[in-house]
Amino acid sequence: MTNSGKKALIKRQSSKRVAWFGAKALPAVGIAASLIMLPGIFGSTPVMAQKADNSNASLNYGDLLKKAKAGEIQKVELDETEQLARVYLKGQKDNTPPQQVRLLAQNTELINILKDKNVDFGEVSSANSRAAVGLLINLMWILPLGAFMLLFLRRSTNASSQAMNFGKSKARFQMEAKTGVKFEDVAGVEEAKEELEEVVTFLKQPERFTAVGARIPKGVLLIGPPGTGKTLLAKAIAGEAGVPFFSISGSEFVEMFVGVGASRVRDLFKKAKDNAPCLIFIDEIDAVGRQRGAGIGGGNDEREQTLNQLLTEMDGFEGNTGIIIIAATNRPDVLDTALLRPGRFDRQVMVDPPDLKGRLEILKVHARNKKIDPSVSLEAIARRTPGFTGADLANLLNEAAILTARRRKEAVTILEIDAAVDRVVAGMEGTALVDSKSKRLIAYHEVGHALVGTLLKDHDPVQKVTLIPRGQALGLTWFTPNEEQGLISRSQLKSRITATLGGRAAEEIVFGKPEVTTGASNDLQHVTGMARQMVTRFGMSELGPLSLENQSAEVFLGRDWMNKSDYSEEIAAKIDSQVREIVSNSYIKAKELLQENRVVLERLVDLLAEQETIEGDLFRKIVADNAQVQVADEQLAAPH
Ligand code: ADP
Ligand code: MG
Ligand code: ZN
Repeated sequence: MTNSGKKALIKRQSSKRVAWFGAKALPAVGIAASLIMLPGIFGSTPVMAQKADNSNASLNYGDLLKKAKAGEIQKVELDETEQLARVYLKGQKDNTPPQQVRLLAQNTELINILKDKNVDFGEVSSANSRAAVGLLINLMWILPLGAFMLLFLRRSTNASSQAMNFGKSKARFQMEAKTGVKFEDVAGVEEAKEELEEVVTFLKQPERFTAVGARIPKGVLLIGPPGTGKTLLAKAIAGEAGVPFFSISGSEFVEMFVGVGASRVRDLFKKAKDNAPCLIFIDEIDAVGRQRGAGIGGGNDEREQTLNQLLTEMDGFEGNTGIIIIAATNRPDVLDTALLRPGRFDRQVMVDPPDLKGRLEILKVHARNKKIDPSVSLEAIARRTPGFTGADLANLLNEAAILTARRRKEAVTILEIDAAVDRVVAGMEGTALVDSKSKRLIAYHEVGHALVGTLLKDHDPVQKVTLIPRGQALGLTWFTPNEEQGLISRSQLKSRITATLGGRAAEEIVFGKPEVTTGASNDLQHVTGMARQMVTRFGMSELGPLSLENQSAEVFLGRDWMNKSDYSEEIAAKIDSQVREIVSNSYIKAKELLQENRVVLERLVDLLAEQETIEGDLFRKIVADNAQVQVADEQLAAPH
């Protein structure tokens, strides 16, 4: 570090100290006031201390000098703070207290004499003097009171300083002059990128549009589930256009005090106008942009004011000032319609979870800065990870890299990636079970799933069965969806229900009804959900092609939460009986399949208990070699 650098550092430190004192000035005054006030109330001790002082003062300064010159003094303690000398005379008894003499401001003469006569003298501090003890007793009363007052003060000053400061530029938003993100860093969302490329042009060459009288859109709303890359896209737009990126989260607007959010909005837009052309990114806009006047227990004044301010600001600047607002949400359904009208967030871009190709592209982006073994096929990983978002995939590769480092390997191999997928999907790996009846039962349960799944024609292939606990599960059966399928047929759904029931079915067949365990509770929940949807949403039951449920299953507290079911009691009873029928038929089917293939079931369970994991290929081979009864497909189609 250079010298000037050091100096600058010191300067900064000292100025910091000043600021610190300044900030604490207010509470300190409060304490001082209480100190002045309180001794009057608890003030008896200092008086007592004074009396004690006087009783011992039988010598005066002149006497002291005389006695010192005469050599009658054994020892003197000088107490600077109290201006007292405690004098021990020669021949005085050990237990008699010293005589106390008031000192003068300057005591050079006395000290010289004491030196001459070789008298032992020294300074003592007054900490143990009785006056100080008195003060201490007082302080013991004062401190808790002071602390108490401070607490009150702190509370009120906090509150008031917040209320005072909200208008000032206590910036809650971040500004990045350069985001450094480019469109090539965002993958798997090609359509969204195409639409947003236009926004980049708006920011870069607004003249092109204004010359022909076009009004440049002000706002773009990015809609998509968490982790699909909305924030990343917004940054990429700013990065491509080379403009500053202002970002704030919707929840930052909403504060305890009415008006704070609105002033933050004003503040944000003012800063943005000073920096135009630029991009404002409002994350989680649903936090402020909810429908006004909605919600149980009345509206939220603060939120509504903030939203109104946002709307006003958006109207207030012309589209041609070079500011574009990008907002992100995963709940477009709850947004206030005023936000969505033309002139505000009139463009809406969907950012969907990636498909197989998209996942592959995203994996390529994130594999760029990692050492990945050439034998690893990113495509195979993409295949294994349906439903993963960009954030999940980024996390997956990172976990694999961490694991690689922990194993002290040179590059990430498929082993680490597999372990990372398992971990991301199902949670942390636990320790293997010891051999016991329950391990055997879990083995039957898992093989039950896998075997039924393998025997059913429409079911996804088994990827692996394992007895190693992970997350909440004691054992796991993994199926790989063999293709990207937007649509699922009725028979596929029924196969899934049957295979999911296979675990409980195996338990019952092998150990008998009284021995079945709680292990299937998750399966049953899943099965009931699927069966119910078949009846109420997909029209796949005897009730016919009816949609009997609100499409948005979640209850959004701000809207129609009352009229949840729009069908009669009679229909409700029918739905229940249909659901029960689907589930019980599937259960019977699963039990039949397992009973018919009991031999292979036993073989697989033995193997699994021994090896803890069976890979899908081996599993299918064993089934194919042993299966006595191939499944007749028509059995599956019955009875509906
Ligand atoms: P969102 O804002 O939609 O919740 P983010 O943009 O914050 O998601 O994404 C989080 C992280 O996940 C990003 O920083 C990036 O590393 C990764 N990511 C998400 N989507 C993509 C994508 N489409 N392409 C590349 N990386 C992505
Ligand atoms: Mg985000
Ligand atoms: Zn199960």
